[in-house]
Amino acid sequence: MAGSSPCSVSGTPTFSCVSHGFVANFSGMAIKAPSISKLVTALRKTYPDAHCELNFTTPLELLIATILSAQCTDKRVNMVTPALFARFKTAADYAAAPPAELERMIQSTGFFRNKARAIQAACREIADKHGGRVPDTMEALTALHGVGRKTANVILGNAYNKSEGVVVDTHVIRLSQRIGLTRQKTPEKIEADLMKLVPREQWTMFSHWLIWHGRRRCYARGPECEPCELARLCAKIGVEK
Ligand code: SF4
Repeated sequence: MAGSSPCSVSGTPTFSCVSHGFVANFSGMAIKAPSISKLVTALRKTYPDAHCELNFTTPLELLIATILSAQCTDKRVNMVTPALFARFKTAADYAAAPPAELERMIQSTGFFRNKARAIQAACREIADKHGGRVPDTMEALTALHGVGRKTANVILGNAYNKSEGVVVDTHVIRLSQRIGLTRQKTPEKIEADLMKLVPREQWTMFSHWLIWHGRRRCYARGPECEPCELARLCAKIGVEK
């Protein structure tokens, strides 16, 4: 039972064979379908408590924390946000803040002038166009100043519990390529491959699992393949043996 059809997500031609249990796309490599379920099982077992490591209690707080996390560790962001969230409660508060004060409060996260500008511009739009509520659709989120698909996926998946895509950050890029889930290089194309392979209900957790594994085992330099919980499932593409 094999056939080809355009993928509903990317439009890429796909080829599948139910009898032999694989899916493939013409832009990437063939992945045995059972491998995905084994991978999900292994990741869930290894990281049963995986979650977004940015601290937040509202969609607005998560948006601010995600903007701050660019080129910065979540740990550092979490050191900065308690004072920030106590000082500014609403999108209008951020929009009206004296730029110098906001910059000073987020300085240690790096690129603080750009980040302050991005926070204020996005918050101004949220206050003016969305009644102060962070929007909960991909279209409206990505229309906000400085909010790309990755940030929108973080907000939708973690603050609104909506699966619209897979968060593709530096860890997800590296691990997806090493494990053999994609041959693509750009976040957009990697996300499209992952959306085809991973069941939709797992999209948010799948990126958490890969991010946790990237931070704890599959480092950019010196991945710990020998004791790795995924070793038997991983193609180890580009990893020195
Ligand atoms: S086997 Fe190596 S390359 Fe594969 S996920 Fe584990 S640490 Fe990363």
